[in-house]
Amino acid sequence: MKIQILDPDVANQIAAGEVVERPASVVKELLENAIDAGASSILVEIQSDLAGITMIRVTDDGIGMSAEEAVLAFQPHATSKIRDITDLSQIRTLGFRGEALASIAAVAEVTLVTRPRDSGALAGTRVVVRGGEVIERGDVGAPEGTTVIVKSLFYNTPARRKFLKSRNTELAHIYGVAENLALAHGEVSIRVMHNGKERISTQRSGGLLNAIAGIYGAELARTLIPIDAKTPLLRISGYISQPAESRGNPSGISISINARSITARQIAAAIREGYGTLLPRDRYPVAFVDISLDTTLVDVNVHPTKREVRLSRESEIVSAIRDAVEETLAGCDLAHEVPIAPVQQRITADEPIPAQPVAEPEVAYAGHHRALSLSDRQLRRTEMPGEENLLPTMRPVGQVAATYIVAEGTDGALYLIDQHAAHERILYDQVAERRDAEPTTQELIMPAILSLPPRESAALRDLIPILGEEGFVVEEFGRDTFAVRSVPAGPGALEDPEGIRETIAEILAGTSRTGPDRREAVTCIIACRGAVKAGVRLTHDQQERLLAQLARTKTPWTCPHGRPTVVAFDKQRLDRMFRRT
Ligand code: ADP
Ligand code: MG
Repeated sequence: MKIQILDPDVANQIAAGEVVERPASVVKELLENAIDAGASSILVEIQSDLAGITMIRVTDDGIGMSAEEAVLAFQPHATSKIRDITDLSQIRTLGFRGEALASIAAVAEVTLVTRPRDSGALAGTRVVVRGGEVIERGDVGAPEGTTVIVKSLFYNTPARRKFLKSRNTELAHIYGVAENLALAHGEVSIRVMHNGKERISTQRSGGLLNAIAGIYGAELARTLIPIDAKTPLLRISGYISQPAESRGNPSGISISINARSITARQIAAAIREGYGTLLPRDRYPVAFVDISLDTTLVDVNVHPTKREVRLSRESEIVSAIRDAVEETLAGCDLAHEVPIAPVQQRITADEPIPAQPVAEPEVAYAGHHRALSLSDRQLRRTEMPGEENLLPTMRPVGQVAATYIVAEGTDGALYLIDQHAAHERILYDQVAERRDAEPTTQELIMPAILSLPPRESAALRDLIPILGEEGFVVEEFGRDTFAVRSVPAGPGALEDPEGIRETIAEILAGTSRTGPDRREAVTCIIACRGAVKAGVRLTHDQQERLLAQLARTKTPWTCPHGRPTVVAFDKQRLDRMFRRT
């Protein structure tokens, strides 16, 4: 074959392949055009049958187009939004490629009806384009604004049609696109209907929180934490979730940059990092944030569907976002909102709760002297001076199941504290605090000897440097045999060889990760070993000390694994439970 320039229709179809991946891409482009046209309200109507999406109609009350513009808009690279490549660095509109209408019309039948706003034009224009050819144009009565109707999508590209997923999957993508745009554009009201039924509806200037409530439900919206932070580089605003509202993947994180909704893994990761140990390792928060940045720092022209952007000074941006999230969380009271599983159910359980004296553990459990003194030793290790108090003032009333401390707040609230989780948090914070300093080690009088199966001994060999940073001195002597000569001193101190063996076994089992994560996992295990156990009776004095120590941690509300340490029932809630209000 000889080299030839492609027929423009073929070229457009190929270009369309990048822009129009699926019905949701059409919705995205049409919604963006409506927003760029200054619409204040946009209606998206979808029709489908069992085979899939049959029609998409987007109606806006934006500036509209003249008769000439209406035809020109379908030409490839026809845009009113930029003139010059330098305009791209100051782009404020969502569109700029001039490709969307041309691309959609190359692979579908598109009807455009439009009348320019405030132009005095008596009639509007109707243009029908199919497979890139204008097949009809003329005057028509029309309201101000623009309606675009797309039918027979991919009628001439069977390969693309074949890759469409089920109707519900395609609908889900459409709703996703509309939701993201609605969240990033509170200035527009967006309504999505499917086969005549309303699916999404957000109110204009109802605020972001209202839009979130409209899309994700009032329950989530109620618990969100507002974030609004400004640095010389950027401003981050929006809402982030309570740690208790976490998800198993990052899909609950919606990000826009300068009101352009995008996917940005680095930024999602920065938001996650801001939660630190407030969340378990494999959990992600929910977040709705907009980052305002100088437009010259954002390259929007890196992806045909503008789904991604490239950032200059990315690492500074990422750390500013992480810090903003961390500071926002540090400044709020996280316990009151910990959702508590259906309390009523527990109360009305069939089994009668046996009457049990809650207080006086000293007397009742005097026989458990060993356990008492162990808890005492464990608590004494974490006794530290300090005044900061991040918990509400509370007084322990007793213990339930030798696991939960029951406390009364001066505000009349009832608190339940998981004693083990709470002590883990205390230990973790103290160990982490000392982490940047030289580890203090404690030499053992008798080294503890470990003989390991080959696979584990290989793993331990790898871990020796990391263990060293934590204060373990481990030496290999002979085949698969190791001597532990020193252990970390301080809070999580280990004394007996059995404890040391168990800790190292746990570290070996629990550190498949690499890098800083691994270091963190090791710290966590060491910290948690020394924690007061569940199922151990504590004296009133010990309970008080534990609460006081917890109050001095940086993040008293969760343990290092992200589980709650404290759950709260405020007075109103108690009143409600007893129908006093
Ligand atoms: P882009 O949005 O990148 O400019 P499009 O192909 O999406 O390219 O649209 C081409 C042009 O058509 C736009 O620049 C705009 O001037 C005009 N246009 C498209 N949709 C609308 C609309 N809903 N209201 C007013 N003008 C529109
Ligand atoms: Mg566009």
